[in-house]
Amino acid sequence: MAENRKKFLLDENLGKLAKWLRMLGYDAAVYKSISIEKKISLCNKERRVFLTRSNKISKRKENFSRILIRTEKYDKQLLEMQDLIELEDVILFSRCLNCNSKLRKVQLEKIEGLVPENVRNNFSDFKICKKCGKIYWNGSHYDAMKSKLKNLLTT
Ligand SMILES: [Zn+2]
Repeated sequence: MAENRKKFLLDENLGKLAKWLRMLGYDAAVYKSISIEKKISLCNKERRVFLTRSNKISKRKENFSRILIRTEKYDKQLLEMQDLIELEDVILFSRCLNCNSKLRKVQLEKIEGLVPENVRNNFSDFKICKKCGKIYWNGSHYDAMKSKLKNLLTT
């Protein structure tokens, strides 16, 4: 099942869409400062779908999977990709919104000094990004984002 899940490579100007895809649990890479040729070869090598807002890129002759994103706002953009993505609880919030790496569960004792006291007192499930060290917990924003995604993708 996990193998069939789509992976993406996004243009740098689609950073917000990348974050929302990561929230959904999708592997959404944004490679900065590399050439278009290199991005295309990465897409093929890593089996990613290239998401771009550029007509020019979407019309390139090379063979690679691509989607031309036509709208400006991330919510509309997510809808454009609706056929490729779904809201799956098991992978929801499993990736770092900053850097796309997988999150892993972490015991509060190990990160105690790194989270504010009110958070320590009110939450028990923590995750940490292996790569950039960012810590996540299921706060109120978690529920808000989840219901936002639900609304978006089920209407
Ligand atoms: Zn990270």
